[in-house]
Amino acid sequence: THIGTAHSSNFENELQLIKEKLILFKNSEIIIYNGDSEQVCEEIKTLYSDKKLISFGLKAHNDVKIICDYKDRSQEILVQYFSEKLSFPANQRDEATLTNALAVICILKEFGFTNEKIVEKINNLKAVEMRLESVNGVRNNLIINDSFNLDLDSLIIAYQFINQYNRDEKTLVISDIFDVKNDDVSLYHKVAEITNQQNFKQIFLVGNQISRFQEKFKAKTYTFSTTKELLESQQLNSLENQLILLKGARIFEFEIIKSHLELQKHDTVLEINLNAILHNINVHKSLLKPETKMCAMVKAYSYGLGGYEIAEFLQHHHIDYLGVAYADEGVDLRKNGITTPILVMNPEQGSYDVIIDYNLEPEIYSLRVLELFANQLQLKGIQQKYPIHIKVETGMHRLGFKEHEIDELVENLKKYNVKVASIFSHLSSADVPEEDDYTMEQIHTFQRVSSKISEALGYQPIRHILNTAGITYYSDYQFEMVRIGIGMVGISANPKVKKQLQSAVTFKTVISQISEVKQGESIGYNRKYKAEKDTRIATIPVGYADGIPRLIGNKKGFVGIHNQKVSIVGNICMDMLMVDLQNIKAKEGDEVIIFNGNPTLEEFSGYCQTIPYEVLTSISRRVKRIYIKD
Ligand SMILES: *Cc1c(COP(=O)(O)O)cnc(C)c1O
Repeated sequence: THIGTAHSSNFENELQLIKEKLILFKNSEIIIYNGDSEQVCEEIKTLYSDKKLISFGLKAHNDVKIICDYKDRSQEILVQYFSEKLSFPANQRDEATLTNALAVICILKEFGFTNEKIVEKINNLKAVEMRLESVNGVRNNLIINDSFNLDLDSLIIAYQFINQYNRDEKTLVISDIFDVKNDDVSLYHKVAEITNQQNFKQIFLVGNQISRFQEKFKAKTYTFSTTKELLESQQLNSLENQLILLKGARIFEFEIIKSHLELQKHDTVLEINLNAILHNINVHKSLLKPETKMCAMVKAYSYGLGGYEIAEFLQHHHIDYLGVAYADEGVDLRKNGITTPILVMNPEQGSYDVIIDYNLEPEIYSLRVLELFANQLQLKGIQQKYPIHIKVETGMHRLGFKEHEIDELVENLKKYNVKVASIFSHLSSADVPEEDDYTMEQIHTFQRVSSKISEALGYQPIRHILNTAGITYYSDYQFEMVRIGIGMVGISANPKVKKQLQSAVTFKTVISQISEVKQGESIGYNRKYKAEKDTRIATIPVGYADGIPRLIGNKKGFVGIHNQKVSIVGNICMDMLMVDLQNIKAKEGDEVIIFNGNPTLEEFSGYCQTIPYEVLTSISRRVKRIYIKD
């Protein structure tokens, strides 16, 4: 870890903070540490003189350091590792990234990786999501947002970061800093000092403490007590062609400023909150044993939420398996760098070739399919035993081996060059408590059949039968893995669990136009609706081509405007629909919630006379998916 000023507000002084953090390493045999802080060096050397110590950093006294002018972009980065030298190219050259790279080098060297491998790995690193995010703003501004924490260290990093952008004019918005280590006077003097080196065109100080030091800042400086006051002043609305750095302590909620300044490229979006997906997964995990594996079903474009974006997020959070319906879906994931095992539930005969090429794992549901797949393995000359998943029919009556076929199945499995990675089945009614007897019968059949298979095979493959609803009602039968789907989105059949889930998806757009309509005037195609009285009609830019079923026109369905439900009037068009605003004081450009909020996804599914699964997977691809993450 890096021992900087983070968390310092909980300590009396820097030394106390360092000593506390160093306790973390009392059982370590080797300590690889950032040696740029003298105090950290001294403390480690005093406390842990008996351990193997390796220091890295930008200063010359470190064991591992950079020995070139790393600001010169034409040069490779040259690193001295004890007496050895190695070089690698680097796109990001801010000090934080470089010190992190040094840490990685130290660790890989310690684990015995070759220099070639280390350089290769560093070159393959994807840009880590920066705490400092940059987004395009309105009026050609570029917004650099760092409203996660605010201390001196992170301010210095932010200043280094913005210098990588070639923008002539820079604006700073900065809030009070909470730091008990320094007294206000020396803290804000220091802040002003490093800020004055940055040549900002203007500075907005938010908060009563920092505002007291206004005269210390050289640029044109404005002060505000709160974020709200700053926004209401309209001062931000005149910013043009600026790099705007937002640096705010959490409680100042600078994300409001960000959304105010951000360029909204798409009016109609399906917004997916990745944090909510993770939260929902964790809620389901909390119902399971820690060692139970989890397969995330990402079939059908992850239930409409997106392709590799969701899979990549799940992979990052160590999901054990991903499940797709078709080989093509799996291939797309592999092409986008997904390396997690992928189970293909509906492998088409013509796709066995790519299944093998892309290292996907097929569901095998009949003797016919087993033979076809085995032949393909042979044809391709595959030597190692290939992982497959045996689907057992227990009551869904869709796909799978029947109990009476098991002997023949096992015989064939032994003959072919395959390894059964898992045995599984699917519950038809885990979300219907009244069908408990049927579900239990399915589970018992599964137990019996899967035991038969593994006994005959002589090894124990992973077993799994629970879907989302199963996890919440039948967790005693989690076996070694479960398969989560709709639960990730925040939907649950179990009211107790539902309460804990967060909604992960919002379909929203904005009002295109508002028309005053007189009593008796008709709206839309075929004059299906005539105004009952004088009213205001809003036109919304989504239609059946976006996945809004035509059957919810003519007052069958509602959308949310200003947190109230307004009814859809007239026939839904291909790309538009109209709603009756009645006396809601909405204006053109205002937000419209199609679902999740008011109405909820469940309510919207009700208008459509279907279930959330169908609503989500019907939203057309032309609706832009955007992903948010705290
Ligand atoms: C889609 C699917 C799931 C996930 O179902 P949810 O109800 O969304 O949890 C689990 N298993 C199989 C075989 C599936 O096809």
